[in-house]
Amino acid sequence: MAQQVECERCNGRGEVMCDRCGGAGSLPGFATWGGGFTSCDVCYGSGYITCYECNGSGYIEKEDDNDEDKSFFDEFENDE
Ligand SMILES: [Zn+2]
Ligand SMILES: [Zn+2]
Repeated sequence: MAQQVECERCNGRGEVMCDRCGGAGSLPGFATWGGGFTSCDVCYGSGYITCYECNGSGYIEKEDDNDEDKSFFDEFENDE
């Protein structure tokens, strides 16, 4: 069974800040002539890119937690 949960990476917006330009939409020192700024080639100047975690849907399918995961953490806590 899988349920849809809000994507933690983009908070359900479906897009995340561009890693390459930090959300500015432009890159300094890239253009050789002109103003010295050029549009980011990753987000095309928007500053945001489609969330790669949810593919832009804002939600991800999450498998229900099963007992295997919990037993793993229990063992870890007891190992002291
Ligand atoms: Zn960018
Ligand atoms: Zn997302």
